[in-house]
Amino acid sequence: MKEYLWIAGPCAAESESQIWETAVALKATGKVSLFRCGIWKARTMPETFAGMGEAALPVLKKVEDELQLPVCVEAASARHIEEAAVYGISHFWIGARTTVNPFQVQEIAEASKGLDLDVMIKNPIAPDIKLWEGAFERFRHAGIRRLKAVYRGFSTASSGVYRNQPLWNLAIEWKRQHPELPLLCDPSHIAGNREWVKEVAQKALFLDFDGLMVEVHPHPENALSDARQQLLPSEYGQMMDSLRLTAASGTDAVLEKYRSLIDTLDREWLEILSRRMEICRDIARYKQEKHLSLYQMQRWNQVLSEAIRRAEDLHLDPHYVESVMQLVHEASLEEQQRILDGKG
Ligand code: PEP
Ligand code: MN
Repeated sequence: MKEYLWIAGPCAAESESQIWETAVALKATGKVSLFRCGIWKARTMPETFAGMGEAALPVLKKVEDELQLPVCVEAASARHIEEAAVYGISHFWIGARTTVNPFQVQEIAEASKGLDLDVMIKNPIAPDIKLWEGAFERFRHAGIRRLKAVYRGFSTASSGVYRNQPLWNLAIEWKRQHPELPLLCDPSHIAGNREWVKEVAQKALFLDFDGLMVEVHPHPENALSDARQQLLPSEYGQMMDSLRLTAASGTDAVLEKYRSLIDTLDREWLEILSRRMEICRDIARYKQEKHLSLYQMQRWNQVLSEAIRRAEDLHLDPHYVESVMQLVHEASLEEQQRILDGKG
């Protein structure tokens, strides 16, 4: 079996008793290897609770010493690293709102130089993969070797049921390009609601993620931040008992067979796309000859609604079908435009 890293703890440190109660309950589940706790919180609105700050550090040290449970905190500035290091904390994560800012990442990386730290970097809020990669580079240059990526979904223009869009294809592509870097999932910030935390976590594990970071609070409904998405320690324990883990990747005859079926289907639909595009080119030439407009909204509405109507019969999510059709349509319009511009 592969080695997983299970991280859990409250969104924010709120009081000594809340930190301690959560840590003791999580330790008792036997399913936590690292306790998370945000002590400086980057909140959207200035009047909301911003974390306990440095006052939480002695309590976190007690969690490490007395419960033998290592602790990680979010660092959003050089000062955060320096202050936490005084209490022996050596695990940090960089939050999504920090990863977007190269100045800030650089400053934190420099503060980490010479320290023996484990650093996890959450993806930036927008799906800008280069920005995420840049953050890793900055820490590597600072001599930090134990790095991990945390996937927490993205804010995008189109909202779905989840708080942050998982864009799983992007995670798959990230893992393909960075096989050496452990990839963890934060199902709490993707889901945004405790109801969906488990399904997101399970999906991530099926996609071969290397662990989870989950928000847990002893009284979630009264939490001072992210109240909707935090689990009770007991719910966390149940979730962890019921998640199905994937076997270490290797050869497996059944899996190989499924994969070859998928490969065949992928080849087939690419060929169909190629044939479709050929017809679009013919249409463009015809439109050019007859001086017809490139884009005919009524026709496109019909095509799209027919595809969405059929989605259900085909056991496909209509949103998925809609996105695929939009992509196909955009590519076809672009190609037709090239032909009309005389470049085809
Ligand atoms: C958090 O982990 O509490 C947090 C603020 O997450 P993110 O940076 O992913 O929004
Ligand atoms: Mn949170």
